Amino acid sequence: MQSLTPEEQRRTAGFFTTEISHRVKRPLRLMEVCGTHTVAIFKAGIRQLLPAGVELVSGPGCPVCVTPNEYLDTAIAYSRQPNVILTTFGDMLRVPGSSSSLLVEKAAGADIRIVYSPLESLDIARDYPDKQVIFLAVGFETTAPTAAATVLTAARADLKNFSVLSSHKLVPPALQALLDRPGVRVDGFLLPGHVSAVIGVEPYRFLQRNFGIPAVIAGFDPLDILQSVYMLVRQLEDGAAKLENQYSRIVPAAGNPAACKLLEQVYQPADTVWRGLGMIPSSGLVLRPGYSAFDSRSKLPVVVEPASEPKGCRCGEILQGSIKPTACPLFGRSCTPDHPVGSCMVSVEGTCAAWHKYGAGRWQL
Ligand code: SF4
Ligand code: SF4
Repeated sequence: MQSLTPEEQRRTAGFFTTEISHRVKRPLRLMEVCGTHTVAIFKAGIRQLLPAGVELVSGPGCPVCVTPNEYLDTAIAYSRQPNVILTTFGDMLRVPGSSSSLLVEKAAGADIRIVYSPLESLDIARDYPDKQVIFLAVGFETTAPTAAATVLTAARADLKNFSVLSSHKLVPPALQALLDRPGVRVDGFLLPGHVSAVIGVEPYRFLQRNFGIPAVIAGFDPLDILQSVYMLVRQLEDGAAKLENQYSRIVPAAGNPAACKLLEQVYQPADTVWRGLGMIPSSGLVLRPGYSAFDSRSKLPVVVEPASEPKGCRCGEILQGSIKPTACPLFGRSCTPDHPVGSCMVSVEGTCAAWHKYGAGRWQL
């Protein structure tokens, strides 16, 4: 829809919003799983365009938010080791761990470097052969293939001083775990576009089969989101529960087989802990035994402090879509993007951060 003129876009948006309003006959709770959708919804004012009965709630779709304290504490413990260089995407620096953060450790002298691609870590490893370079591999199916390619490159180059601390997570098992919980009410899902570009359509089929819940793989333009909401509303009001792909211009039904093959070659699924959701079976990716030389945990054992959660923080409930950020007593008071108490206030895609940045004055919505 990017090729539409502004006038055509306006008319198309008008069509979707009118259709949604006409069709909705009961309150509907739709979850946008992905943090990028949360931000796009705020930026485009989509909540204000929807009838009062359609509620949009955020889900566990920001990798920074769902990374548990135990992982951060392990990264912090590594950063305190002599002869270790940590490489990470910038967002992770400010996430509070149990008693410190990587930013605090960096200020205290730890060698922590921000990279834009995991491959940059290999250059650092080559430049510092007497140091151990650890890449903090955090992300969903979207970023995991690049980390897998990095491991393969390191293996081919026989780089002995590079490893990854993996916290890669898989989206479909998290949705399954969410729906298995008593009390979670979601009428339909806006599914993440980038993750789907890698895994394709089929991994979400259980939503329809096991739960009878409509789902739409959604793009990120305002019109993509409005159309996806319309597709969900249409299904719900017709009593259907289909899996549809609004973002087919980017998401092929089969996903990206080359990326999936990379994942399959380097990683295997494992039970893993999500912040707010706890342990979810087969929802994480760990290196296959053949690549254990590149697995920080097997290669460089480290003592980690017992994990604890920040007092009063309600990230766990926010990540399940049970409450909105404004229900957290710390929101906008002791917890702000400049001084985040919980992980949801850190990343630009974090639900609390998005509400704080874009919801000012409209927090009652
Ligand atoms: S990787 Fe992109 S599409 Fe996937 S959940 Fe994160 S922000 Fe959303
Ligand atoms: S406002 Fe801050 S403390 Fe409260 S849930 Fe969000 S991130 Fe956690």
